[in-house]
Amino acid sequence: METCPVCHIGSLRKRRVTYTQTHKGQLTVIQGVPALVCDFCGEKWFDTEKVDGLQFLLQSERESTDMPTKRPRSFVSRGGSS
Ligand SMILES: [Zn+2]
Repeated sequence: METCPVCHIGSLRKRRVTYTQTHKGQLTVIQGVPALVCDFCGEKWFDTEKVDGLQFLLQSERESTDMPTKRPRSFVSRGGSS
């Protein structure tokens, strides 16, 4: 049994959990994902290979990659105290 690297108190137990990820502002929920869960602090550690598969799933359903990172320069508000 592995000791939790976060709290160093609890131990990691294999459980099936709900994996949630926010991807480009969209919440993706996948249920029944095997993970190691700390029985003390509740930190979840996902099997990297499994999560890799999930990432693939998530990536395959992405629509567009172009996200506006730069906002158009909005009007500059002048000091309103006149
Ligand atoms: Zn812990």
